[in-house]
Amino acid sequence: MRTMRPVPTKGVLDIEAYVPGKSKAPAGVTLHKLSSNETPLGPPPAAREAAAAALTQLEVYPDGQSSALKDAIAEVHGLDGRHILCGNGSDELLGLLCQCYLAPGDEAIHTEHGFLVYRIQILARGATPVAVKETDATADVDAILAAVTGKTKLVFLANPNNPTGTYLPFDEVRRLHAGLPGHVILVLDAAYAEYVRRNDYGAGIELVSSSENVVMTRTFSKIYGLAGLRIGWMYGPEAIVDALDRVRGPFNLNAAAIAAGAAAIRERAFIESAIDHNTRWLEWTTGALEGLGLTVTPSVGNFVLVHFPDAPGRTAADADAFLTSKGFILRRVAGYGFPNALRMTIGTEEANRGAVAALADFLGRGQ
Ligand code: PMP
Repeated sequence: MRTMRPVPTKGVLDIEAYVPGKSKAPAGVTLHKLSSNETPLGPPPAAREAAAAALTQLEVYPDGQSSALKDAIAEVHGLDGRHILCGNGSDELLGLLCQCYLAPGDEAIHTEHGFLVYRIQILARGATPVAVKETDATADVDAILAAVTGKTKLVFLANPNNPTGTYLPFDEVRRLHAGLPGHVILVLDAAYAEYVRRNDYGAGIELVSSSENVVMTRTFSKIYGLAGLRIGWMYGPEAIVDALDRVRGPFNLNAAAIAAGAAAIRERAFIESAIDHNTRWLEWTTGALEGLGLTVTPSVGNFVLVHFPDAPGRTAADADAFLTSKGFILRRVAGYGFPNALRMTIGTEEANRGAVAALADFLGRGQ
């Protein structure tokens, strides 16, 4: 009999896969999903209508250039469309950057508690991920620059970072860029850009516009409420946009995604109110959790990282089990290097108050 031998995989079976946050509550309990940094307010109604309208011609391929979406992004952000590339979520764009710029033997840098997709995509190219220590859970520019070698090709920086929610001021981002050799691409992952209330944030777009080696990735999965349709975009120098554009899937965004994204980005009043909701409840949730005696990493995103005591019955794993039994699904972040913390997405008023009340019960501090 012929023995079956597995087909060689270039080592990808050694990569630890990305495990998404949980999305189910126990039977009979109302689900409050606070595990994946989705908006509790959903997409603007106009985006929902545009997606539905786009589904009337399922037999036809979508526009391979995602032109309607690209034009809408360019118009709203005042950018040149030649510098924009749309992706199937920003995840796809992060992968394409690795595909285009990394080969076996190369190195790519990310921060110690950076988004897990970087590491996975770096390893998938046979390159070496270099995790750099943070200071106070925030990217440390000197440490990143010290880690650059002749083999470094990419530096990933999520700002705000997930899962810490921490923010690197833009004078620091500029200092990082200034210290990098010209052949190293700085990837500014701005998935949570819209939530940032710092007046220096716009500097990121300026940095991309004035450099040959900086790109910014953005998403419609957070404030625009379209995570289910998978829409991301990148803003960068024409040469980098061109490289990724050549190797991406020819129809990487589906028709509903293109239509919904183009509609959503124009709904400024809806988006502003969603930002206001987040700002208000981020502050409330941080204060309420601290009021329970828990440590919260200061966040500028739509989530908070909550640290638990290292005491039997009081750990993040214990809290997670208790919260889940009540329908509050938070994110375990051990895979990000925080074995005793949970990440909580800012939800509706009801979900935020409910999660805090459940944690108060858990800690024996009934409110
Ligand atoms: N970057 C960061 C920092 C994220 O947290 C996420 C979503 N979890 C992404 C990128 C990917 O977003 P998407 O693929 O949904 O656009």
